[in-house]
Formats: sequence, structure tokens, C-alpha cells
Amino acid sequence: MSDSEDPTVECPHCGSADVDKESAFGSEISKTQYYCNGCHTVFERIKYDGKQPGE
Ligand SMILES: [Zn+2]
Repeated sequence: MSDSEDPTVECPHCGSADVDKESAFGSEISKTQYYCNGCHTVFERIKYDGKQPGE
């Protein structure tokens, strides 16, 4: 287990887990950008201090 990496990130568009983590946005450390290799779409994921509401 790792505390610094998200366990599993799935593409919100096609549901693929084949995503690459892109560089975090400048000062917005709460946002991380990912690139989906499945549908070639970039999407953002927001972090909630390790907690994910609804899970
Ligand atoms: Zn996708």
C-alpha cells in the first residue's frame, strides 16, 4: 500500500483503469490530472484529504 499514490483511478468517461497520472496543477494541490489511455481523454480528480465521500 502507498500513501502517496491513489489506489485505483478509473476514467469517468469510459470506466477504464488504464490511466496515467499527469502533473498536479500548480497551486491546486487538491486536484490531480489524469490521462486515460482508453478513450484518450484528460480528466481531473479531486482529493479529499484521503477521504472519499460516498465510499
Ligand atoms: Zn477513458
